Amino acid sequence: LMSTRPYNFSAGPAILPPVVFERTSEAVRRLDVPGDTSLESQLSILEISHRSKTYDAIHQEAMELCHAVLGIPRTHAILFLQGGASLQFAMVPMNLRIEGKAACYVDTGAWSKKAIAESKQLGPTEVIASSADTRYDRIPAFPSADAYAGASYVHITTNNTIFGTEYAELPQLEGDVPLVADMSSNIGDRPMLLERVALGYAGAQKNLGPSGLTLVFLHRDLLAREPASPVPTMLRYGTHAENDSLYNTPNTFGVLVLLNVLRWIRDEGGTQAIGARNQRKAAKLYELLDTSSLYQAHAQPGSRSLMNVTWTLAGKDEDESAARTKRFLAEAEAAGMSGLKGHRSVGGCRASIYNAFPEEGVDALCAFMREFERKA
Ligand SMILES: *Cc1c(COP(=O)(O)O)cnc(C)c1O
Repeated sequence: LMSTRPYNFSAGPAILPPVVFERTSEAVRRLDVPGDTSLESQLSILEISHRSKTYDAIHQEAMELCHAVLGIPRTHAILFLQGGASLQFAMVPMNLRIEGKAACYVDTGAWSKKAIAESKQLGPTEVIASSADTRYDRIPAFPSADAYAGASYVHITTNNTIFGTEYAELPQLEGDVPLVADMSSNIGDRPMLLERVALGYAGAQKNLGPSGLTLVFLHRDLLAREPASPVPTMLRYGTHAENDSLYNTPNTFGVLVLLNVLRWIRDEGGTQAIGARNQRKAAKLYELLDTSSLYQAHAQPGSRSLMNVTWTLAGKDEDESAARTKRFLAEAEAAGMSGLKGHRSVGGCRASIYNAFPEEGVDALCAFMREFERKA
């Protein structure tokens, strides 16, 4: 079955490893946790209580592997929330804004802009760097400390899913200003210095599991912050940290899939091995783009994403380029490659090649692209 599937280049919800599909479907039928003799273990993950011992073991192991596999420091609380990364755009300023201190943002495209818009609704917000003037084709140079001195926090988007840019390395802030990072589309794509991140968040559906689960990790010191205005119970990080993300019913199914994904990363050799494979996969595509006269990479060297590779097709005018893109996408679809259409705000094409995307799928895409160019 798996060998005849289409290659899935979807930007999200996105591909997961075959073993995760297998383990998860087994758990939907009947959990059968080794060594667990409770009745819940004979039931489906979809129908057991989030207060049961059987579920609790899944929940705790998933949290443990967030530290052990993703490298989230033990100083940080792990939260399993809902509402997607988009709710974090609001929860971050609600919880971390300090009266009289601006919230600072780096603007690297669509998702950053949405985060900035939420912060602006709540208080003073400054954009301290942006790549808007070059159509978000790069990560702007990180500003020096005086640009954010005294800020409530600095927010970045570590991978720009739509434009295909990614921080090569996480910035190290000076002073005691916390760094907040939207890591939705590149968490776990390589080893990262997560001790630099005071609060990180990721909608699970790009690299970690299904939609409907959001991973948040935050340094426990941040829980002591007095928010600038009162925050409703469900929107307070403290509520979830104090209750181990069991204040209300979590996305129990999503947590099980997350656990299966984290076990898979561990068994593959961790983020080190995954990162090496991701580098290889992305390098093949960028090499092709840089040596082609038909395809043009959108992202500039030094800012290129390992996860989302974006390009346009050249033409003597916009019409020819649009027609070629349309034909490219139709032929790719016919060749069993799904999800290559670029985001409507950028146009062109985008190959999302997340952790679980197989290297032979990248090879197949490269071969298809070379052949298409030869015929063009
Ligand atoms: C997909 C994505 C989001 C939005 O996530 P939702 O879970 O749909 O709210 C936010 N930020 C980035 C970087 C993304 O890739």
